Amino acid sequence: MRGKLHVVGFGPGGKDDMTVRAVRTIENADVIYGYTKYIEILRPIFPDKEYKYNGMTKETERCRLAIEEAMTGKDVAMVSSGDSGIYGMAGIIYELAFSMGADIDIDTVPGITAASSSASILGAPLMHDTALISLSDLMTPLDLIMKRVDRAADSDMIICLYNPKSKGRTEYLEQARQIMLKYKSRETPVGIVRNAGRPDETHWFTTLGDLDDSKVDMFCTVVIGNAGTYVKNDRMITPRGYKIE
Ligand code: SAH
Repeated sequence: MRGKLHVVGFGPGGKDDMTVRAVRTIENADVIYGYTKYIEILRPIFPDKEYKYNGMTKETERCRLAIEEAMTGKDVAMVSSGDSGIYGMAGIIYELAFSMGADIDIDTVPGITAASSSASILGAPLMHDTALISLSDLMTPLDLIMKRVDRAADSDMIICLYNPKSKGRTEYLEQARQIMLKYKSRETPVGIVRNAGRPDETHWFTTLGDLDDSKVDMFCTVVIGNAGTYVKNDRMITPRGYKIE
């Protein structure tokens, strides 16, 4: 039988935030591959599955093993948090499978990305044009990342920062903030969500002028509003433009 590889976005964390299709795909798979931390999230939800996992920075090796197992005719799921097609595993799976000449069926199962899950916790901040920017320079040159921050801020986009900070990259958020302050006012609302949809979920609001990056880590998504965004009753809202009588 021809092997199958599903690249499954399982959303921010809990089963409630998974799509029916993601749940069904994981349940039907012979084996689930993923990053160790993600498997820790999924194991209690799907306790009877077979899991194969390894650490961060081992993505290529993990994907190669998953493709090879699918090539034996199995039904394999490669899990990715949020949406598998947004800073997820979908791209590398296709690229590797092409380069390996793998004769398998690949499909991507989309999920709720961190921007959506975080926005729902903050209120309704993404009601207008939004730029998703990852501050991770592991695979993107830092000057290109900062150029994109500059252009997005210059065009008054709402900016949603993924990978805002890690132990090795502590200063990029502050660098991005300084660039955004060239165009956005110090009062611009900022909403930060840590571990959306997970048991230790937290969120808080600040402003671009007061943004304290010491509380931000790689489990956070940082949402910076546009010129119309405001915070009221603990909700961050960007008006879409509807006339309200
Ligand atoms: N494919 C994922 C993104 C992976 S990049 C998605 O679509 O959501 C990893 C970054 O995503 C993290 O550094 C963080 O900025 C964000 N992120 C992922 N899960 C999150 C969660 N549960 N809560 C807040 N941010 C999250």
